[in-house]
Amino acid sequence: MMDSIIFTHKDQQYKTVFFETFGCQMNKLDAELSLGLLQEEGYRIVDKADEADVILFNTCSVRQHAEDKVYSHLGALKKLKKRHPEIIVGVLGCMAQKDGEAIFKRMPHVDLVCGTRMFSRLPELLLSIRNHGSHVLAIDEDQIVNVKRAVAYRANMYQAFITVMRGCDNFCSYCIVPYVRGREISRTIADVKEEAQALVSNGCKEVTLLGQNINSYGKGLSGNVTLGDLLSELNDLDGLERIRFVTSHPADMSRDLIRTMSRLGKVCEHLHMPAQSGSDQILQRMRRGYTAGYYCDLISYARELIPHIAVASDFIVGFPGETDEDFQETVQLMEDIRFQNCFIFKYSPRTGTKAAGLEDDVTDEVKRARNLKLLELQKGISLEENQKMIGKKVQVLVEGASKSDSNKLSGRTRQNHIVIFNGSADLVGRLIDVMIHEVTDLALYGKLENYP
Ligand code: SF4
Repeated sequence: MMDSIIFTHKDQQYKTVFFETFGCQMNKLDAELSLGLLQEEGYRIVDKADEADVILFNTCSVRQHAEDKVYSHLGALKKLKKRHPEIIVGVLGCMAQKDGEAIFKRMPHVDLVCGTRMFSRLPELLLSIRNHGSHVLAIDEDQIVNVKRAVAYRANMYQAFITVMRGCDNFCSYCIVPYVRGREISRTIADVKEEAQALVSNGCKEVTLLGQNINSYGKGLSGNVTLGDLLSELNDLDGLERIRFVTSHPADMSRDLIRTMSRLGKVCEHLHMPAQSGSDQILQRMRRGYTAGYYCDLISYARELIPHIAVASDFIVGFPGETDEDFQETVQLMEDIRFQNCFIFKYSPRTGTKAAGLEDDVTDEVKRARNLKLLELQKGISLEENQKMIGKKVQVLVEGASKSDSNKLSGRTRQNHIVIFNGSADLVGRLIDVMIHEVTDLALYGKLENYP
C-alpha cells in the first residue's frame, strides 16, 4: 500500500501525460476528472504515448478482451521504458483494483497501480514515484465520492456526465463490478446540484447522471432520498435543458420513478435498462431478480405514461446452460419490446464471480451464431423504428461536426437518436428543430428548415 505522504508543492518535472481509457462511461468520466486534476498540476495532455512523461491506462475488467488489450499495450511499452526509465507507466481503474500487485509481477516496468477509488490522489501518487523511484500500489477503498471537478476541462462544453453514485450491491452472477467498484455509495443531492450548477454556469445544457446501479441512488443517505428526488431538484436548475440517467436495473426501477420521469419536463424520454435475457431460467441463474414478464410490464407502464419513450437494452448470449429454447425466448422479448438499440455480448467468465463456477457449456460457435442473430434482428427493428421518424420534426442538441461527414453537423434528440444535418459551426451547443427526411438503422438524416 502507498505511504501516507502528503505533497503540497506542484510536480514541476513531469509535464506531459498520455491517457487512454477503456470501458464504460464512468471510466470516461473518471478520465476527465483525472486529467482535470493533472492539468491543475501543470501537466499537458499529449496524443502519443512516446511523447509523454507519464503514460496512464484507465482500464476495464468487465470482459477478458478489454484486459488483454491493456496487457498488450503495456507489453508494447517495455522497449520505450528501457530506453527512457524516467517515464512513469501507470494502470488505473477496474483492472488495477482486481489484479493489484500481480500487475507488477507480470509487467515489472509498470510503476503505478491505482484502483477505482484512489484516482483523486493521482498527482500525489505520481510525485511519490518520482521522489522514491519505486512501485506504488494504491488500491485502498477510500470512500471518496466527491472529486473536485475542473469544469473547464471537457471536450464538449454543452454536455456533461456527473457521477451520482458508485459501486453496486446487486452481485449479478456474471458481473465483476461489485468486486472492483465496491459497495454502493451515493453523493448528496446538494453536492450533485452544486456540480450541475457549476457546469451550467460554464455553458452546459445537458447532464447525464451516472451510476452502476442508478435506481438505487440515495441508499445510505439520510432522509429516504431517491433518484426521483434528485431528478426533481435538477429539473429546477435554470439554464439546464436536458437530464438523462444511466444505467437502470429492472429490479430496482420503481413505477414511482417512471411517474416522476413523466412529469419532469427536462428528463429525456430515454431509458437504458438492460434485460440481459428473455428466459426466466437464465435470468435466475444470472441472479437478476426479475422475470421477463416483469420486465415487459415495466416497459408497458413506461410507454403508457411516456408514449415516445425510447428503450435501450443489453443482452448476454451463451450464458452457462442457455438452451436453444432459452435463446428463443430472448429473441421473442426483443421482437415484443422493439428496442431502439441494444448492446449484445457473448458470455465470457470473469474469475471471482459466481458464474465462473458454472460450466461454460455453450460453444463459441453457438455464442457467435446467437450474437449474430440478435444483431441482425435488432438492426431490422432499429431501421423500421427510425423509418417512423421520416417527415417528423425533432429537437436536437447540436454536438459538433459529424464524424462521418465533416461538412455536416451531428446532435441527439431527447430519445437519444443521432441526427446528421446541414448547418454551420455557430449552431453547436444550441437546441434546434430538424426535419427528418432519411434514416438508416444507426442515424436520422435531416434538414434545418429555413437554412440554405
Ligand atoms: S447491477 Fe448487476 S450487472 Fe449491473 S453493475 Fe451491478 S452486478 Fe453488475
